[in-house]
Amino acid sequence: MTTSAAPNPICGTLYVVATPIGNLDDISARALHILRSVALIAAEDTRHSARLMQHFGIGTPLAACHEHNERDQGGRFLARLQAGEDVALISDAGTPLISDPGYHLVRQARAAGVAVVPVPGACALIAALSAAGLPSDRFIFEGFLPAKSAGRRARLEQVKEEPRTLIFYEAPHRILECLEDMQAVFGDARPALLAREITKTFETLKGLPLAELAAWVAADSNQQRGECVVLVAGWDAPEGEAAVSAEALRVLDLLLVEMPLKRAAALAAEITGVRKNLLYQVALERQKDA
Ligand code: SAM
Repeated sequence: MTTSAAPNPICGTLYVVATPIGNLDDISARALHILRSVALIAAEDTRHSARLMQHFGIGTPLAACHEHNERDQGGRFLARLQAGEDVALISDAGTPLISDPGYHLVRQARAAGVAVVPVPGACALIAALSAAGLPSDRFIFEGFLPAKSAGRRARLEQVKEEPRTLIFYEAPHRILECLEDMQAVFGDARPALLAREITKTFETLKGLPLAELAAWVAADSNQQRGECVVLVAGWDAPEGEAAVSAEALRVLDLLLVEMPLKRAAALAAEITGVRKNLLYQVALERQKDA
C-alpha cells in the first residue's frame, strides 16, 4: 500500500514540532524558529498552546487540530500546504502523534505529496527510558492501557512474556491500580520504574520490584499525582530446569529410568510438548547431579 507520494516542490512543508513536557527551557532553538516562521500552527488545544506561544513571544496564528476534528479538518490544513504555505503541527506537550493527535494529518499530507519534516524534542517515554537504568537497546511502547482492570489485565497478559523493556503511559488517578495489576500479571519481583513529573518541580524517578513499587505508591498519596510513565523490565525467560513444568520433569524422570537419555528426552518431548533440545539438556543436568 502506498502511503506517500513524491514531495511536490510547489507545496509548503508540514513540520511536526515537539514542545516541552514540563520545563519550557526544553524547547529547541530550531522549534522556536520554525514556530515563528510558519504561516499557521495546527495545535491540539489552541488555548493551551496560546500560553506557550505567549511565553516565547510567538504571534503565529493557531488553528485546532485535535482528535475529534483531525480527520475532517485535515483538508483545511492540506489546502494551505498545497497553496505553498508552511504549517507546524504541535500537541499540548511533547512529540505530536505519540499518544497525541496528528497521525491522520501526517498521513494525509504524505499521501498528497507534502514534505513532512520532524522537529524532534521532548518525549516523556524517551526521557523516562534514558534515565531508568533498564535495558534500552530494545523496548516497546504500549501507550495507555485500558481504563478498567479486566481490560488492563488482558492487555498485560498479552505482553507478559515480552523480552523487551515495556513502557506505558498512565493517568495519576489510575497509577496505583495499574501497578497492582502489573504486579498480579508480571509477578512481585519484576523490576520496574515509575517516572513522574519529568522535568517539573516534583520530578521523581523510583525504581523498585513491582510489589515494592506498588506498596510505595500506595503508602504516599503524593505519588498518585501528576503525569506518569511506567517502565517494566522485559521477561527474563527461565533456563534449564526452571523452564520446564513439574509434570514434564516427572515424565522425563520416569522415562530416564527405563531408557537411554536421548530416547527418554525425545519421548518426554512428544508426551509433554516441551522442546526436545531443552529436555535433553535438562536430562543431562539431572544425570550429572544424580
Ligand atoms: N506526546 C507526549 C509525549 O511525547 O510524551 C505524550 C502525550 S500523552 C496525551 C500524555 C501522557 O504522557 C501523560 O499522561 C503521561 O503518561 C506522559 N507524560 C507527559 N508528560 C510527562 C511528564 N512530564 N512526566 C511524566 N509523564 C509525562
